[in-house]
Amino acid sequence: MSSNSLVELDRAHLIHPVASWRGHEKSGVRILTSAKGATVTDASGQTLIDGFAGLWCVNAGYGHESVVEAATRQLRDLPYATGYFGLASEPPIRLASRLAEHAPGDLDHVYFTLGGSDAVDTTVRFARYYWQARGLPQKDQFISLEQGYHGSTTVGAGLTALPLFHAGFGLPMDWQHKIPSHYAYRNPVGTDPSAIIAASVAQLRAKVVQIGGAERVAAFYAEPIQGSGGVLVPPAGWMAAMRAVCTELDILFVADEVITGFGRTGPLFACSDEGIVPDMLTTAKGLTSGYVPMGAVFLSDRIYQTIADHAGAAAVGHGFTYSAHPVSAAVGLAVLDLYEGGLLDNGRIMGARLQAGLAALADHPLVGDVRGRGMLAAVELVIDKAKKTPLPAAALPATRIFDRAWQNGLVIRAFASGTLGYAPPLCCTADEIDAIVERTRLTLDQTLEDADVR
Ligand code: PMP
Repeated sequence: MSSNSLVELDRAHLIHPVASWRGHEKSGVRILTSAKGATVTDASGQTLIDGFAGLWCVNAGYGHESVVEAATRQLRDLPYATGYFGLASEPPIRLASRLAEHAPGDLDHVYFTLGGSDAVDTTVRFARYYWQARGLPQKDQFISLEQGYHGSTTVGAGLTALPLFHAGFGLPMDWQHKIPSHYAYRNPVGTDPSAIIAASVAQLRAKVVQIGGAERVAAFYAEPIQGSGGVLVPPAGWMAAMRAVCTELDILFVADEVITGFGRTGPLFACSDEGIVPDMLTTAKGLTSGYVPMGAVFLSDRIYQTIADHAGAAAVGHGFTYSAHPVSAAVGLAVLDLYEGGLLDNGRIMGARLQAGLAALADHPLVGDVRGRGMLAAVELVIDKAKKTPLPAAALPATRIFDRAWQNGLVIRAFASGTLGYAPPLCCTADEIDAIVERTRLTLDQTLEDADVR
């Protein structure tokens, strides 16, 4: 089928996630046809560096034969086995035990989901169940951060603090509360790390009081680095300080590592960067490197044992048809082999190169802030550096910059405000990292020439 008729079929029938439906009808679709390593090829034959690893998920890179073989073998041997009725297949058992070895502290118990959103939903269900089990059912309020992203199901989108996910959807729900982000570049308390940490701690404590005290609060959610909110990196010590408040107040601390997990910031889990052990931890994306869908929730031993004791002989009523899917778990095992077999090391080296390369763009007239850790970064664009004025929305900076970068052979995330997001595969070579930086500079130079952007 020619790609032109595919464009028409797409326009008529395929609804795209987080898209302007009318805008998409006009602009049409770009079709990708193949991928290898850190590059993707589109239907016109252009090969580009995928600086965003799909949707920050193809951490291992494309085209690993070992992953293809693992999936093929599992599809042939046993494509499906339910975890209901006391049944299982081998791959999820092996994957859960290997992940538990790597996970921080006593996060030894793994519940597999289909992706990140239902992983977040799962933590909300387990948090409520846990407090019921502890005889404290009134602890049913949840707090998350502004600029946070926790998924697109009703519960996850309510914890998410991006207005686009709320307006028209009846969200957030009245038990979902927000406190300001640490967002260093635009924090009213300034850029001093200790002031930012003190402000966040005070805001969390104040929110708890406002809700009715710690006896009302079930859990606090944070991403180790806020991804979809614009790659916002908290100062060192921020996670530990927030964790300490939750421990003191007996509020569960949930780390949402859907983006930061699996080598994105260096280690397998970004909580390790700060020596934090959350009560629950969510992952997805890099778990299978996007080859097939899968997410996972890690439970601390305390939460697991409390829920198990409370339910006793009764079933804990939470399950999906595709929980612990054998093909996804087989892919997860093959991908974990790659991480352990040198990919995390390469990601660390290339991550340092990416951060240094992007930092050097700070001299560009459009660049207000460069931030990130490892293979996760952002360049925030402004038209006035002193005033930190964002690019005018009317100039559609996101679409325009995304298109330009594409023409320059680079896939990046361009957030609505004009902030550029980077999450390249960990398999990138030094030349590819350098090309990401050079193509970004070229894209920024071209953008600077547009009168309506300036
Ligand atoms: N949490 C975070 C931190 C995420 O970044 C995302 C997805 N970008 C999700 C949850 C939801 O994951 P999914 O899209 O796989 O449902």
